[in-house]
Amino acid sequence: MQNFLKQSDQNPVALETIFEALGTTNRILVSAYRERIAAGEALKRAEERVRALHERLSVFQPESELSLLNASAGCSSVPVGKDAFLLLRESKRFSALSEKAFSITTRALSALWEIHARCGTVPSRAEVEHTLSLVNDEDIMLDEEAQTAELRIFGQSVDLGAIAKGYAADEVRRILIEGGITGALINLGGTVSVIGESKHVGIQHPDRTTGIPMGHVSICDACAVTSGDYERYYEVDGTRYHHIVDPRTGYPSRSGLRSVTLIGESALALDALSTAVFVLGAEKGLPLIQQAGLEAVFVTDQLDVFCTDGLRGNFELL
Ligand code: ADP
Ligand code: MG
Repeated sequence: MQNFLKQSDQNPVALETIFEALGTTNRILVSAYRERIAAGEALKRAEERVRALHERLSVFQPESELSLLNASAGCSSVPVGKDAFLLLRESKRFSALSEKAFSITTRALSALWEIHARCGTVPSRAEVEHTLSLVNDEDIMLDEEAQTAELRIFGQSVDLGAIAKGYAADEVRRILIEGGITGALINLGGTVSVIGESKHVGIQHPDRTTGIPMGHVSICDACAVTSGDYERYYEVDGTRYHHIVDPRTGYPSRSGLRSVTLIGESALALDALSTAVFVLGAEKGLPLIQQAGLEAVFVTDQLDVFCTDGLRGNFELL
């Protein structure tokens, strides 16, 4: 993917950057600002911030803080920077809030499923059960004063895949606003944050090519985050195995949902809760959504689509 900061073809005042980081394609389109040079600089800073978060937080970067934490599991604590500390603390909070449906210690399970996905096989129940014993976010021990983290048990590991893009989107938003930007569409691999004017956010059809929506919701000065079973999956004997694991069973979650999209102010909270609600299902997830003051669009196994009351008038089925 090319990396560029350029004038948009459609809108001559717009600025745009598209780049790869956090395991996805990120696009930031700035459409309104107080001053062009300051806006361009803010956009560059925002991109650099996302790249830096990738370096520090990705478990696929062998030298990242998270990789060092994983490598020291059951042995010792490791120093972590502000971003990692905040995300580990928030992850523990969302895990407790969701009765563990959200658990970043699912990394060991994700790794097991990734190996089998490459081979086109399914892990045995014994493999799943053994690995499941390593999943518990209460085993992430944080020392606020020393700014260190430790995983209690040898073999445990964490990944921030379900929350990092949300945090990154909030950081991009903050940097752009500080730079005098008054209109922007931030899209970090489907984690969307809108500054200013109302924008349509598509609800992806789970069985159609990426970019073909089932409907859309209009959001203004807000964020929208989706968790779904169609982003990464493989099939064995007609069964779909996707990338969101139910920490209670060790298997890809089957809660009756194909996707859930949450709308609210903090992309970090939306990211964590969309994963949690996807695992919990609509019925058990709804109280969490209401408690957090969010709106939601659900797509079910039967491809029924329904939304929370606050979205009536903003959501359009196509
Ligand atoms: P995406 O990143 O594809 O938009 P999510 O935000 O739902 O979707 O995050 C999914 C990623 O989070 C997985 O790829 C995996 O790394 C990790 N993960 C999988 N299951 C869970 C879970 N139950 N709780 C926390 N993280 C999870
Ligand atoms: Mg998420």
